[in-house]
Amino acid sequence: MTQPLILDTHIDIRWPDPPDWLGATDRCVDLPKMRAGGMAAAVFIAYTPQGPRDHAGHAAAAARADAMLRHIRGRADGRATRFCDTPDALEAAFAAGIPAVLSAVENGYAMGHDLGRIAAWRRLGAIYLTITHDGHNALSDSARPRAELGDGAQEHGGLSALGRAALAEMNRVGLMADCAHVARAGMLQACEISRAPVAVTHTACAALCAHPRNLDDEQLDALRACGGIAQVTAVSHFLRAGAGSQAAPRATVADLVDHVEHAVRRIGLDHVGISSDFDGGGGVEGWRNAGETANVTAELARRGYGPREIGLLWSGNFLRVWRQVLRNMN
Ligand SMILES: [Zn+2]
Repeated sequence: MTQPLILDTHIDIRWPDPPDWLGATDRCVDLPKMRAGGMAAAVFIAYTPQGPRDHAGHAAAAARADAMLRHIRGRADGRATRFCDTPDALEAAFAAGIPAVLSAVENGYAMGHDLGRIAAWRRLGAIYLTITHDGHNALSDSARPRAELGDGAQEHGGLSALGRAALAEMNRVGLMADCAHVARAGMLQACEISRAPVAVTHTACAALCAHPRNLDDEQLDALRACGGIAQVTAVSHFLRAGAGSQAAPRATVADLVDHVEHAVRRIGLDHVGISSDFDGGGGVEGWRNAGETANVTAELARRGYGPREIGLLWSGNFLRVWRQVLRNMN
């Protein structure tokens, strides 16, 4: 079987002071582990934690996102690894056998009220923006409000007017909209109004495990309707209630693939993918780091998925969505 292009769409990095990832590290993902596990491409995240929603807070977050995007781009020297910001570039790197580095921004908090950041992030090579993290921001309600930051259950009733304008700007510049972390109402609104397909890059299925970060069946249907994609992620307590806590062992690769299969049955194989959320809370028994990635492929094969289907789940579907986002620009 030819090796599929294995793309992991959500991996955090340590910040500040990221270790040299070209050698072995204590992180779940570094270049030696990617090579060992056959992971060909990784989307590293410029993540900005929720902070004070004032000018100083937004400015600090914007500076951090900018610095992280530049750092991620600088991880690739063009020889041992290659930075890619288009699907064609990613496929060319894979064909050349060179691991690909990609980037994205997590938490629209980092743009404050400045829509100009969206085009700037895309120019730095980011491929998507996760509209919220935990805690409401100026763009949208979050699936997990932060009471300690003063959040109520909801603030905007989904997307704010600024959030809708941000989505239009993302469509315009070809930055994919990621609704992981976004409140249910905001996510459904994004699927409704976006001119391009919407992604949820690290999530799981509420039908199998009730969790505010997971997608219910109606949300899965909305992703199919907009041509989008649900990337099922390897976070233990999204996959099995209580798993990974002191009281219960971590979820397993089989649990992860159960969620993949639920989504496939509900909305079809073309709208489903896989991500790890490594170094941001992700990791299950059997897929504890990038070096164990082949175990996920093996579990899919064991359940009867063929090379074509496995290739679609690992990257083909995400690349289709991404290409459509870029085609729909104006
Ligand atoms: Zn996240």
